[in-house]
Amino acid sequence: MNYIKNIIRSITGLSIIFASYSCSDQKNQNIMTTQETSIFPKGNAAPKDWFTGEAFIHPLLAKDKNNDFALGSVTFEPGARTLWHTHPKGQVLIVTEGKGWYQEKGKPAQLIKKGDVINIPENVEHWHGASANTKMIHIAVTNYQGEENVTWLKPVTDAEYQEVNKK
Ligand code: MN
Repeated sequence: MNYIKNIIRSITGLSIIFASYSCSDQKNQNIMTTQETSIFPKGNAAPKDWFTGEAFIHPLLAKDKNNDFALGSVTFEPGARTLWHTHPKGQVLIVTEGKGWYQEKGKPAQLIKKGDVINIPENVEHWHGASANTKMIHIAVTNYQGEENVTWLKPVTDAEYQEVNKK
């Protein structure tokens, strides 16, 4: 009788050990998955005269005879943001990863996060970017007026950016 109990005890013990190993494997897998779920490649470093900090652009689609817009995935490392700018025919942002900010001139910044869609009107001065501690990736649908789709203005200063990130 005792040896049966011992067998049961050792099987239970093994199960617990096995279960905890499975759990930690599962955890590691989840962490790896989280780091590898970006939908599109990161692309190339974005021009420094359009962006502050570490930003990357992966072009998805150029304007053509049917589509009067450019489509691209933009990755902002923590702290990275666009300059202040306008779009002559507006822009749509689809956030695919992380958290960041969208701000129109003279208005409070809005926190934007994965799954959000931002419809930016024409000729409204604004910027978008990551939060200070979290990266953000968005798809940008940028409409053209003739051959123009953006006018770049001044950088978002560190003071402006820090004010937003106090929230
Ligand atoms: Mn924009």
